[in-house]
Amino acid sequence: MRRPSTHDAIVIGAGPAGTSLGLVLARRGWAVAIVEKSVFPRRKVCGEYISASNLALLDRLEIGDAWRANAGPEIRRVGFFSGQTNVEAPMPGAKYGPEDGFGRALGRDILDFLLLQAARSAGAEIFQPCRAVAIDQDGDMQAVRIQARDENSRDEATILRAPVIVAAHGSWDPGTLPSQLEKASLSSDLLGFKAHFTGSSLAPDLMPLLTFPGGYGGMVFADHGRMSISCCKRRDMLARLRRDRGFEHDGIKQDGNLSAADAVFRHLMASCRGVSDALDGARLDGPWLAAGPIRPGIRACYERDIFRVGNAAGESHPIIAEGISMALQSSWLLATEFAGAPSGRAGREIAGRRYRAAWRGLFSTRVYAAAAIARMALSPGGAALMGAAVRNFPQALTLGAHMSGKTRAIPGLR
Ligand SMILES: Cc1cc2nc3c(=O)[nH]c(=O)nc-3n(C[C@H](O)[C@H](O)[C@H](O)COP(=O)(O)OP(=O)(O)OC[C@H]3O[C@@H](n4cnc5c(N)ncnc54)[C@H](O)[C@@H]3O)c2cc1C
Repeated sequence: MRRPSTHDAIVIGAGPAGTSLGLVLARRGWAVAIVEKSVFPRRKVCGEYISASNLALLDRLEIGDAWRANAGPEIRRVGFFSGQTNVEAPMPGAKYGPEDGFGRALGRDILDFLLLQAARSAGAEIFQPCRAVAIDQDGDMQAVRIQARDENSRDEATILRAPVIVAAHGSWDPGTLPSQLEKASLSSDLLGFKAHFTGSSLAPDLMPLLTFPGGYGGMVFADHGRMSISCCKRRDMLARLRRDRGFEHDGIKQDGNLSAADAVFRHLMASCRGVSDALDGARLDGPWLAAGPIRPGIRACYERDIFRVGNAAGESHPIIAEGISMALQSSWLLATEFAGAPSGRAGREIAGRRYRAAWRGLFSTRVYAAAAIARMALSPGGAALMGAAVRNFPQALTLGAHMSGKTRAIPGLR
């Protein structure tokens, strides 16, 4: 075991929540360690859309220019594709400067790498690929045990110590940390899938919500002509599709078990005209990825002297595409509370209480709104009802985008 090294804060996970927090704290002069188990750049299950409500924050993080230079086209229309139904409505802009700003999508291989590089340049020490496996009290400090594989595939352990520990490890990976969620497997679980395609005919400024039996998803153009398609599908529905020897695609009967990705792709193509039109002649760019089950809900923001940001603190159904926003913005809220709090355990308790109140004020509505929309999309007949509603009242899509937080300003930022 290596000698323990000491920091002001240890951040576990280098998704948008972990890197943005590490970046802000390092710029303030904190000694920050970021621990990430995967090698970057890496692709990730995610629709990759970032709302315009984040423009001011991206600029404050000083990655706004790089994000604009790399991200896909502005998304000025929101859509609803379900069965034979295709409906569109204006996407509301978010006030930023003299004009309205619009959201755009950027591949997570690029976004997460960009943020990590910025955190490194700000002075954060990066431990990667390293998995955090335990957190223990160590006097006034806490000790985080991290493991890396050496060249002989043996695990090499290191202890990092800091008074402030931040769980930014997301919510989809099981693990041994007190902040990680217990593993569960239910037939109603939603599993996440995502792929990139090139050559798609989807309108570049349109982001449609997709519904299909047993799931929902979305499509959007990201960087370099890559169209990102992502979806969530019920575990029991997926199992049925994979087993179903009578499943037909392009008039051809399928035989034997399908891979999960094949089953998802074929089901999307067969059940949603908007998807089959958009992917007609398109080429898969890289593999289909899977993750989950996803765990929507509101969790603790500060518990057992561990702060949580991003999905670790709470997660909305991806049907509203607000997870990256919540990851970036929750870290901003926590960094703001750290700035005003006294040091020591009592100061951490104060910061934890204030951060929890700020988190709930900013995100609770969108978590509940997303749960209601997802419940409707997943219920039998629900998608047909949604289709009828948006056909008659397309403005409901614009309203839904407002309610999901896409235009909501971040406290303390303009
Ligand atoms: C199908 C789907 C589509 C989505 N589409 C969108 C969208 O279009 N827009 C949007 O805003 N959101 C979307 N989301 C949600 C979004 O992907 C997440 O909310 C977001 O990634 C959360 O960021 P995070 O930083 O909290 O966690 P993550 O991005 O999950 O990052 C956590 C990091 O921690 C690392 N890690 C985990 N455990 C450990 C450990 N023990 N030690 C070290 N490192 C560890 C992981 O490797 C990972 O890099 C979608 C989600 C799904 C499932």
